[in-house]
Formats: sequence, C-alpha cells, structure tokens
Amino acid sequence: MAETEVAIVGAGPTGLMLAYELALGGVETLVLEQLSRRIEQVKGGGIQPRTAELLESRGLLEPLLPRATPRERVGGHFAALPVPLDCTPWQTGHPFPISIPQWEIEEVLEERAIAAGARVLRGTAVSGVEPDGDGVVVTTDGPRVRAGYLVACDGARSTVRKRLGLPFPGRPATYQAVLTDIRLSATSPLVPRRLGHMSTLTRTTDDYWTMLVPLGGDRYRLTFGRTDQAARAGADRHTPVTREEIAAALQSVYGAETILRSVDNSSRFGDATRQLEQYRAGRVLFAGDAAHIHPPLGGQGLNLGVQDAFNLGWKLAATVRDRAPSGLLDSYHAERHPVAAQVLHHTSAQRVLADPDPGEDVSALRDIVVDLLRLPDANRHIAGLISGLSLRYPLPGDHPLTGRRMPDTELVTEDGPTRSATLFQAGHSVLLDLAGAVPGDFRPPLSCRPRPRHQRRGTGGHRPAHPPRRLHLLGYGEPGHHR
Ligand SMILES: Cc1cc2nc3c(=O)[nH]c(=O)nc-3n(C[C@H](O)[C@H](O)[C@H](O)COP(=O)(O)OP(=O)(O)OC[C@H]3O[C@@H](n4cnc5c(N)ncnc54)[C@H](O)[C@@H]3O)c2cc1C
Repeated sequence: MAETEVAIVGAGPTGLMLAYELALGGVETLVLEQLSRRIEQVKGGGIQPRTAELLESRGLLEPLLPRATPRERVGGHFAALPVPLDCTPWQTGHPFPISIPQWEIEEVLEERAIAAGARVLRGTAVSGVEPDGDGVVVTTDGPRVRAGYLVACDGARSTVRKRLGLPFPGRPATYQAVLTDIRLSATSPLVPRRLGHMSTLTRTTDDYWTMLVPLGGDRYRLTFGRTDQAARAGADRHTPVTREEIAAALQSVYGAETILRSVDNSSRFGDATRQLEQYRAGRVLFAGDAAHIHPPLGGQGLNLGVQDAFNLGWKLAATVRDRAPSGLLDSYHAERHPVAAQVLHHTSAQRVLADPDPGEDVSALRDIVVDLLRLPDANRHIAGLISGLSLRYPLPGDHPLTGRRMPDTELVTEDGPTRSATLFQAGHSVLLDLAGAVPGDFRPPLSCRPRPRHQRRGTGGHRPAHPPRRLHLLGYGEPGHHR
C-alpha cells in the first residue's frame, strides 16, 4: 500500500492549488485524479481580484497572465446588470477580473505543484475512503493509499462526500443549461466582438438566454438555456449535447447569418445550491465544489475553491508537521464556511435578478438594483463581495490587524524596495515590523535596516509550518498603488 502524509482527491483548481501550498510547506502530497488527461474545456475562467492577489503572492499569477484572453479593463458584474463593479476603492493592484480558461489555470498550477514536490497520479479514480484513528485508507482503481489526512477536492459530485455518507443540504437545480466551446465561420452584427462587460455578452429572446464570450479568432464560449419556465429543466444532465441543439440556439438568438463551424466540447450544468455543514470530518477535509455549489453567476466557484485551498494549505502543513495548536485546523471551517455561505446567498439573489423571463416584479427590482449600483457606496459594497476584496475573517479577539486581507504593498528594506507579494512567495509567514517605517517614502537612502531573520518565539497565536521571517521596514507605500 502506498503511503503519503496528505492525499488530495481531484486535480481541479482547488486540489492543485492545495497541492502547491502543501508542497511549499514541505508536506508529502499525493493528488489522485480520475482523468488520465485534462479536458481542455474553458468552463470557469474568471479570476477575481482577491484570487489574483493570492496567486501573485505565490508567484503563480505571472505564468498565468500570458495565457489571459485579452479583455477590456472593465469591472465585474452583479447578475449581469449593466453597471460595472468598481474595485478601485478596495486598493488592489488587480481591480479587473482576468479571463483565463480554467484548464490553462489548472495546467500552470499542476506544473508548479509538481515542481514544488507534489505527486499527481492521473487515471486513478477513488472509490472508497475508510478513516481510522490516525489516518485514512483510500481505495482506487489503482493502488490503495494510506494517508495521514485526506482532502476531498473532487468536485460537486464528490465521491468522498458520498462514501462518508455526509449530507449536502440545499436546493436542487431550477434549470439546466449548456456550456460549449465553439468556432463560428460567420457572425451577424449581434455577435460580440470584444470581451467587454458581462452585460454586453448576454442576450435573451422568447426562446433562449445566452452568454457568448469571444475568446479570440473564431473561438467562442457559448452558454445557453431556455427562457420559458416550463422548458427550463432542459435535457437530463447526462444526455449528450448535440450540434443541432447548439446551432438552433445560436441562430435563434444571433440570427441565421451566424454559422457554427465546429464544436470543441460541451457539457450541461445546473444551478443547484448546496453546502456541507462541516468542512472537516476527522482526518478528512473538504474544499472547493466538493464543499459548496451555487449557480455560476458572477464567476465565483473556481475562486472560492482556490481561496479555500490557500486558507487550508498552511494550516494542514503546520498540523502535519506538528507545529499547530489543536484549534488551527478547525479554523479552516470556521473561516471558510461563512465565506461560501455568503456566496450562496448572493448568487441566490443574482439568480432572481438575472431571470431571463423576469415579469413585471423582477423587472422593477432590477431597475432599482441598477440605480443602487450607480451609487458609489453601494457599488463598492457589491464590488467587495464579488471580488473577494472585502473578505475579513472574524478571528477571536478581533485584533485590528488580524483577519484582514493584506493587499500587495510596496515596502522598503535594507536590501532595497520590494513588495509584500514577493515576501510571501516561499509560503512562510512574515512578520513585518512597521515601527519607524515611513509611509509612502520609497526614496533611498533610508536609515533603518531590514533584519530578515528567523523569529522563534514571541509572535503569538498560531505556529506556522515554518518559523516566520521577520523584516524591519524602512518605509511602505499605499497598498495597491504599485501599478
Ligand atoms: C458554466 C460555468 C461557468 C463557470 N464560470 C466560472 C468563472 O468564471 N469563475 C469561477 O470562479 N468559477 C466558474 N465556474 C465554477 C468552476 O468551474 C468550479 O467552481 C470549479 O471547477 C471548482 O473547482 P474544484 O477543483 O473544486 O472542482 P472540479 O473543477 O470539479 O475538479 C474536481 C476534480 O476531481 C476529479 N474527480 C472527481 N471525482 C473523482 C474521483 N472519484 N477520483 C479521482 N478524481 C476525481 C475530477 O475529474 C476533477 O478533475 C463555472 C462553472 C460553470 C459550470
């Protein structure tokens, strides 16, 4: 039987991000993935500002950016309403969503996780999970694996969740829709030419609602469903999507001049809303879609999963290394469960507002929400929710500096200017000593000295997988103002 300190089920964005974090923490990590090779389907692809900040703080954004689909520098959306969300008040270097096909995000994360020391075993489907006192035995269609901890990142239909008999409470889907990557040989003027604000990419007719995203050249990502309430349930999820079905929706919404050249891949999805009650069951933890699902409105799912992994990684690494107090691992559930609950809450509201057949009442509500979104304070609030930038973990004691997001900030040390994102790339915690630092003053020479050194005690709170690096700062700039 193969042995590993942590086994991760699923090499989606959540599992791969977690594998990278654990490998950085020096933990022996094995990812078990049923697919022998990745399906090159666009699926999720919107990286929200907070996720961009986290990826940047690990040096993972840089290799992703060249793969981004060129898009207008325009804010995100709430329920596809025609008011861009403005993230600039949240002081971030990444105020606009970045579009990268999900499979390309996964490819980069997998390369980096393997380079950091994680192992990824593809073509290995997990079929059984037996926790015991100090570990978990995992049955696959390949080797049996014994792991100290198991993290289920195996998506919405999580086998691990089902094998453990854990309920996944919530609401079933109210519609089925089709997601397909297509190529067009001719386009009518109704077909969007540029990747602009979401409200410019959606259309509704009496028969269909669509979202058509130009990906460059003749490539598009088409999402569509039926407008009419009675027809919304659509085909069964397992029924293959046909070329005729796609062509019919396209021509109905974009006119007969819009010609489908080919279909690269397609799948069906629904808008079910569910969340696990506990993200931890002994030595088994849950992250990403395995823990929560919601309608794909506002580009949230991949982001939530990557952020779950980021939150869990260092805590699990510290636990495995026996450097964590007993409550540390449980703070993963305490911090991340409310965040997903909030996303389930606002995607429920978005589902109502984005109804393709709104009727008089929803239309009135939509008008009012559009007006509200034009007010800077309301816009800032919703922008903070959707982008993840307003996230704040309510930690015990509510220390003014704990639980808050730290935006990337320019810093001056004895070695010269640097950025906080650069300091976090090794995955170690960093103690920034701001006493005597000069806000906004980057000009050398500065007289204080940076003293990077290991801090072995006195940092209080949780003990990380690695001792924190302590830096005495000479100056620092306004967060988010470096670009
Ligand atoms: C139409 C649509 C548009 C979307 N757009 C966005 C967007 O713009 N932004 C965004 O943030 N999110 C978006 N999402 C959501 C996003 O795609 C998901 O939230 C994301 O894929 C979740 O990642 P995950 O790693 O948790 O799970 P998954 O991506 O589902 O990965 C799970 C992995 O586990 C593997 N697996 C499953 N069972 C087993 C098993 N028994 N053994 C071994 N391996 C197994 C699977 O093969 C898969 O590789 C969208 C979703 C849809 C449907």
